[in-house]
Amino acid sequence: MKPEQAQRLRDILLMLGALIMFSSYLFGEALLWVGMVVTFSGLIPHFLYNKCPHCGHQLRPWTHKAPYCPFCGKRVDGWAE
Ligand SMILES: [Zn+2]
Repeated sequence: MKPEQAQRLRDILLMLGALIMFSSYLFGEALLWVGMVVTFSGLIPHFLYNKCPHCGHQLRPWTHKAPYCPFCGKRVDGWAE
């Protein structure tokens, strides 16, 4: 998985998790736990794949706008220099 995809997946899961947690006010407490599990599962792609393929550093959230690693300066979206 590319860092770009991991960031997108994380954002989707975080938003989905938040939505489910909010809907627990309407549909019951069980959804609060479901929402928390979904939200935290969004952190898994973040920590596993949101890394520089060159030096392995964790990437910052704004990297998808400027696809260069802040640590080694190389592109992290799969393209060559
Ligand atoms: Zn790097």
